[in-house]
Amino acid sequence: MMSDDCNYIEYDKPADRVVRITLDRPERRNAQNTRLLYQLNAAFDRAAQDDSVHVIILAANGPHFSSGHDLGEIGSGQADDNVRKEETVGTWCGFGCAGAEAQMAYEKEVYFGLSERWRNLPKPTIAQVQGKVITGGLMLVWPCDLIVAADDATFQDTAVELGVCGVEFFNHPYELGVRKAKEFLFRSNIITAAEAADAGMVNHVVARDRLQAFTLELAQEIARKPLFALKLAKEAVNAAQDAAGRSTVMQSAFGHHQLSHAHNMLVHGMLMDPSNLKQKPRSNPSE
Ligand code: ZN
Repeated sequence: MMSDDCNYIEYDKPADRVVRITLDRPERRNAQNTRLLYQLNAAFDRAAQDDSVHVIILAANGPHFSSGHDLGEIGSGQADDNVRKEETVGTWCGFGCAGAEAQMAYEKEVYFGLSERWRNLPKPTIAQVQGKVITGGLMLVWPCDLIVAADDATFQDTAVELGVCGVEFFNHPYELGVRKAKEFLFRSNIITAAEAADAGMVNHVVARDRLQAFTLELAQEIARKPLFALKLAKEAVNAAQDAAGRSTVMQSAFGHHQLSHAHNMLVHGMLMDPSNLKQKPRSNPSE
């Protein structure tokens, strides 16, 4: 795949002290290719480094927040590297190496690394979510501090169905609790915004036509607080998670994820197990 020169991100200031970053690839359901992810990272950096900004909203144009990773790119590491060289923040190495080393390099920097970086931004972030969030899409939503979901939002990780042990940013137990996280992974099932809120993953569920206004009101309320207190409060909560072992768990799961890819490459000649690729996502048995 040749690299493109599209702009996939909108950046605006809808209110005093509030920046809104919007994914703008609606014709592909905001699928994440390398360029979109680096452009998103640059937008987050810009908002983080602007001291007049207290709160960052992450939104998405179109009916669905994100369909996940752009499958057209997966496994095309050398082409991705062209974009990486233009946009890179350069946190890892070995992108041109053979075998599992290059795959790990790409996912360590572009998937795991960027999501972890966004989770640690020095000011509050709010995900504004509508429609479907599938697999890699979770790695855009979960790093945000708060999540506001429209009542039509749904969430799903299809990784296990495809022979991989979960998305690279393995925050499942911290989002859903251990038991619900296991079911979410084992079944690859869709959960609704209401179910996600019951599990503690989503802060607020609102009507679809109220989503943008509600999120902006929430952002403005938080933005009136002193920024230093906000960033210290965020650091304190994140430190509580990390002191309980989150960082180690994430590293361990990322290793398992790479083992899944290496196994599939040896057995199937591709990064995923193709046996369920054409199977439609399952909803709850009661539906
Ligand atoms: Zn992967």
